[in-house]
Amino acid sequence: MGYYITNECINCGACVLECPEDAIYEPNKKYKFEGKTHDAISSVHYYIASFICDECENFTVPKCSAVCPMASIKRK
Ligand code: SF4
Ligand code: SF4
Repeated sequence: MGYYITNECINCGACVLECPEDAIYEPNKKYKFEGKTHDAISSVHYYIASFICDECENFTVPKCSAVCPMASIKRK
């Protein structure tokens, strides 16, 4: 489960500012999870680290997809 970002992403960065879990990263930027550094999942567009994303369980809608102008954040 979890959310992912599709190739329609235009790298606007709006979703990053909304994510309460800091689960969204710039292309090519490595992410940290449980003290370890992991390679970026995408070198082309922003991406969601699925181990970190909790699907906005404390919110009625996923905050990232609510602001995405391209509707490029989908549920797996
Ligand atoms: S669904 Fe919520 S926790 Fe997951 S990436 Fe989007 S804003 Fe972050
Ligand atoms: S809000 Fe949408 S278009 Fe903007 S960086 Fe995030 S996924 Fe990409």
